[in-house]
Amino acid sequence: MSLFTRLKWADTKGFSTCVSCGKRLHYKNLNAGHFIHGTPSHGYKYDYNEFNVNPQCVRCNKWLHGNLVNYTTFLILKYGQELVGQLQLEGRRKIKLTEEDLLKLLPELEAKVVKAQNGEYNVI
Ligand SMILES: [Zn+2]
Repeated sequence: MSLFTRLKWADTKGFSTCVSCGKRLHYKNLNAGHFIHGTPSHGYKYDYNEFNVNPQCVRCNKWLHGNLVNYTTFLILKYGQELVGQLQLEGRRKIKLTEEDLLKLLPELEAKVVKAQNGEYNVI
């Protein structure tokens, strides 16, 4: 999920934008920042929701604990208030994925990484 998140909006040189502060960095120097945070085990449904996980710089993701005010603004502008509400609701449900769920997700994520590497997502 992390590789897909950091690549999904990267340009042909591998640079993408932190959704919270707008800083442009190479995808290898970005984090996959969660809007709704999972646990260290990362097995919850929203950990694999591509709207919930977006590229962030280390400063916003770690030092500013997600820079959530700006993260929320980004999500509202890009996807709308309804999506933010859905993510917040889903986050409260704490739906744990089973091993079978994760095994189904793996090929989907691999396909998304290939699409991202081929530039099939719009650059932001
Ligand atoms: Zn940032």
